[in-house]
Amino acid sequence: MGLLSLGTPLAWDEAKQYADHVRYNGITQFLNTWDRLKDRYGDELLWGDEVEYMVVELDAEAKSAVLSLCQTDVLARLTPLTSSIDAATDDSITAPTFHPEYGRYMLESTPGSPYTGCLRDLVSVESNMRFRRNLARKNMRSNQIPLTFTSFPRLGVPGKFTSPYYDPSDAISSHSLFLPEEITNPHARFPTLTANIRRRRRSKVAINLPIFVDERTPRPFVDPTIPWERNIYPEDPEAKNGAALVDHIYMDAMGFGMGCCCLQLTFQACHVGESRRLYDAFVPLGPIMLALTAASPLWRGYIADVDCRWNVIAGSVDDRTEEERGLKPLKDNKFQIPKSRYDSIDWYLSESWMNRPEYNDNPFPYDTSIYDRLREHGVDDLLSKHVAHLFIRDPIVVYSELIDQDNTTSTDHFENIQSTNWQTLRFKPPPANSPIGWRVEFRSMEVQMTDFENAAFAVFIVLLSRAVMSMNLNFYVPISKVDENMRRAQQRDAVRSSKFVFRKNVFPPPSRTNSGSASLATAVNGTTNGIGLKHRILPNCFPPPALPEEGLPKGSVDDEYDEYTMDEIINGRGVAFPGLLGLVKDYLNTLDMKDAESQKIDSYLDLIRCRANGTLKTPATWIRDFVRAHPAYKSDSVVSEEINYDLMVAVDEIERGVRRAPDLLPKDYTGGKEDPGCLHK
Ligand code: ADP
Ligand code: MG
Ligand code: MG
Ligand code: MG
Ligand code: MG
Ligand code: MG
Repeated sequence: MGLLSLGTPLAWDEAKQYADHVRYNGITQFLNTWDRLKDRYGDELLWGDEVEYMVVELDAEAKSAVLSLCQTDVLARLTPLTSSIDAATDDSITAPTFHPEYGRYMLESTPGSPYTGCLRDLVSVESNMRFRRNLARKNMRSNQIPLTFTSFPRLGVPGKFTSPYYDPSDAISSHSLFLPEEITNPHARFPTLTANIRRRRRSKVAINLPIFVDERTPRPFVDPTIPWERNIYPEDPEAKNGAALVDHIYMDAMGFGMGCCCLQLTFQACHVGESRRLYDAFVPLGPIMLALTAASPLWRGYIADVDCRWNVIAGSVDDRTEEERGLKPLKDNKFQIPKSRYDSIDWYLSESWMNRPEYNDNPFPYDTSIYDRLREHGVDDLLSKHVAHLFIRDPIVVYSELIDQDNTTSTDHFENIQSTNWQTLRFKPPPANSPIGWRVEFRSMEVQMTDFENAAFAVFIVLLSRAVMSMNLNFYVPISKVDENMRRAQQRDAVRSSKFVFRKNVFPPPSRTNSGSASLATAVNGTTNGIGLKHRILPNCFPPPALPEEGLPKGSVDDEYDEYTMDEIINGRGVAFPGLLGLVKDYLNTLDMKDAESQKIDSYLDLIRCRANGTLKTPATWIRDFVRAHPAYKSDSVVSEEINYDLMVAVDEIERGVRRAPDLLPKDYTGGKEDPGCLHK
């Protein structure tokens, strides 16, 4: 989550009266940013990760593992501590940052300052993550552990799943049958988001995941743990009136999605054009990386037949009315909207010739009056449509103190809409009053159980982004195919059993100015960033792809892609398609690395290679197999308290290197030992 504003949030009936005001002024603020910074040039590569944790409380005697609602206490201890690290030490040391998140059992950490393009930073990511985890752990009680686990298996079961216990009958913002009010961060933003999404939608959110059918799973599966006859809130009958599907795990609150943990990466680009190219290159990678990091097969005490959080989190903040969802003709609302405000992106952004208009083939509602205003101001068609598409949404949280803003110094109204479009990627304009440039955030990945894996995926994406930009690689496929991949990515065991659409030829055609194959060396070792590239630095400021000799591409875009296995996408298929790992390796060959650096990077790339070819399991498969092999498992799809406890203990032990998991991690994985050296830049 971004910065938390302080103020008095309005209930939906009042907030909605300011929707046009927030949108109008938000656009003014965007245009002010645009005018000031559209020509800004020369920002170096800065990047950083966000890792989310859930605090789990273990009781060995009772064999119980529950979520500890200790966020406020832990942050109160961590915040003064991190500022004293900053104050007590020299400039080369930056203390990490901890943020609150949606769940009152959640924390997020980021490096204290972004990493640079220095290879030394790249190989310190893992120890930086570990330092953060260990710092968090030290500021918890001895029975509390910070787990990087995507979805808590028993969130929302009957009985106790939090410490302290609260009864869901008190869920005044969500009206959930399962989650108590106290699951939610008490900062006014979060209960207000929760309640206003429900109010705007005019019902509770409804999420149904297919249950994993095991030998003794009752069929049809009608969930006996749903309090079908509860009668406290007006929405209580929704479950029995059709919201809860047979053979599914039903969830009815924002906390089920926003209570998940993930791994996000943010990259600063050289200028706005480069950030738009990077954004587009990341688009087709979203579902690929989701499938590779799949880590969430367990939900509300059951095994699901999916491996990822995505559809849950999308459903958990789906504030669209029936009209907007296309269930009723439009009357009170302006648009039919195909997706939740949390979902995959719908629009490629780059003005490069590589971005053929045919690729933007999804249904794409946008606000034409906002579009016209942006165009009249001189913003180009693609970016105007992007912004006008984000701005079909209403602001959900409006603070009475922040209604009137100085649009020359604030971007708060813009951010209000922008930051509640939770998509696979976020194009981040520079914030007001800050030295930060144009950025792109990569948001699809599930958090991994160990910092080794989290670092591996972070480093892989950083290197792949450099390979793409330096070699002018082309990953474009029609965006509807990216959505098809999103659907496939979440299926059980997608890495091993699904195929994905990917572009056949990722290399640029020979150009009018230089030959395609020479472009790698030129881009990497040339002096294209104005300051002269040094070896061993991951640069920014790449020249845009030159026009092809034969002119703009003409054939059908449907001839440009094919179906690939995950192994092929990552590890290659024949000479024509080297795989994403092959591309990264080509790029690495242009760098001058120390042995220790390349060994570390190789260990990360090896994890990716083995995940993709199936010799190592995804976390989702490992977790599912753990439950199904547990002696107390009754082959009925149920994750009991005892199984959950043993799973949480195992995950913690694996992370610390106390327990081995050779089907999940490389054989030489030694676990998370503290490495204070990571603080030195
Ligand atoms: P949000 O929650 O809004 O996505 P956070 O502040 O939690 O953002 O995380 C932003 C990430 O971006 C952090 O990892 C941070 O280190 C990194 N970062 C900070 N400044 C820059 C920058 N100028 N360019 C790229 N990344 C940055
Ligand atoms: Mg977060
Ligand atoms: Mg964050
Ligand atoms: Mg955020
Ligand atoms: Mg983020
Ligand atoms: Mg560092």
